[in-house]
Amino acid sequence: MTKAVKFGGTSLADGNRIRHACSIVQADAERRFMVVSAPGKRYAQDEKVTDLLYRLYEEEQNRNELLDRIFERFAGIVQQLQIEFDLEAERRKIEETLREGCNVDAIVSRGEYLNARITAAYMGWPFVDAANLIRFRENGRLEEALTYHVAKSVLEEYECAVIPGFYGSGPNGVIRVFSRGGSDVTGAIIARAVEATVYENWTDVTGIMSADPRVIENPHAVHYISYRELRELSYMGASVLHEDAIFPLKNTGIPIRVCNTMEPEKEGTWIVARYPVDRGSHPVTGIAGKKGFSNLQIEMAMMNTQIGFGARILEIVANHGISYEHTPTSIDIMSVIADTKAMDPHRNELIMEIDQEFHPDRIFIEDNMSLIAVVGEGISANVGVAARVLQSIAEAGINVRMIDAGCSELNIIIGVNDCDYEKTIRALYQGLYEFL
Ligand code: ASP
Repeated sequence: MTKAVKFGGTSLADGNRIRHACSIVQADAERRFMVVSAPGKRYAQDEKVTDLLYRLYEEEQNRNELLDRIFERFAGIVQQLQIEFDLEAERRKIEETLREGCNVDAIVSRGEYLNARITAAYMGWPFVDAANLIRFRENGRLEEALTYHVAKSVLEEYECAVIPGFYGSGPNGVIRVFSRGGSDVTGAIIARAVEATVYENWTDVTGIMSADPRVIENPHAVHYISYRELRELSYMGASVLHEDAIFPLKNTGIPIRVCNTMEPEKEGTWIVARYPVDRGSHPVTGIAGKKGFSNLQIEMAMMNTQIGFGARILEIVANHGISYEHTPTSIDIMSVIADTKAMDPHRNELIMEIDQEFHPDRIFIEDNMSLIAVVGEGISANVGVAARVLQSIAEAGINVRMIDAGCSELNIIIGVNDCDYEKTIRALYQGLYEFL
């Protein structure tokens, strides 16, 4: 039995935390493959090593000072762990890479690289470079099949290993990184490659919360959540795990366990393909949302008889490079809801183009809409969840601008004014408490 484990930057921010993370790994012989992030923040005002590395690449005039700060962090770690490690040589390599003129990824990946080398030295485990396991295409996308194949055949040779997260290599061995927080994706890839029984993602929170703790005081942690539910919640702003971390595991059935490094005895959250327990009495898994959406609304009599109308509107939206979230329609009205940041630069052209082509009765864009999703695999099988959602909002005196419940009934999405965002989440959390 093999477990792949990944530790986030906060859990590895200094030598003592690394020692604690290693003790968690050593406490279970099945934890054989350890993926690490770069050192994160030690305290609220601290800077993550990855952020310092981005600055190192961008701020040419501050390079010496930034290198000093980065290597002071690593020197502190090496000292706390009481190991021998030649940091001077590593600093020279980075200086040389910068002088030669490299891509930004070659620099920002060094936080993970060094943290993994140091952790491996402390553990007495082999270090396996992610550049030899994870492959990117020229366009920066993961070369999935090749990656799983290469990672599997390389790691088969190891009893255990420490692997840096966040990066891999592209054509000609050029270092490429995932988007920020991408060590979660590395962990998932490694879990798949070694056919792990579980992918443990160790972080600084007690699993996934049923609502945003910045809005709801002490929301309860979710025990089980399905991949589908997590996708819905994470795209709505609940971010514990990188949103791409699920894809490598989706069809494998390997569960992800999100656990808190500070409370290793707690169960945390299990992210699973299917629930192992009867969820009948807990149809709702979580509530999440995001502010800042715009609604492009087109009203035209007899719209429903114009075949291809909707397709053409979406084509115009797509031609402006806008990705939309929802398209609620009624017989003569079509709405396209998208992030305001994406829609805003194109608002005049959008209105003009649609107006010229269709001469609708009314066309306008309204801003300041929040979307809030109530998510749960059990919503479809339980009577009364939707009623309770609307009742809770009505009782709080909140005006609903949009309701969208897909046929899958995995979620119910409510659009409200941005100024009602927090109030709506609170009303829903309270109103749905017994379903959570
Ligand atoms: N260190 C990288 C970041 O800060 C990747 C990660 O930690 O997952 O985004």
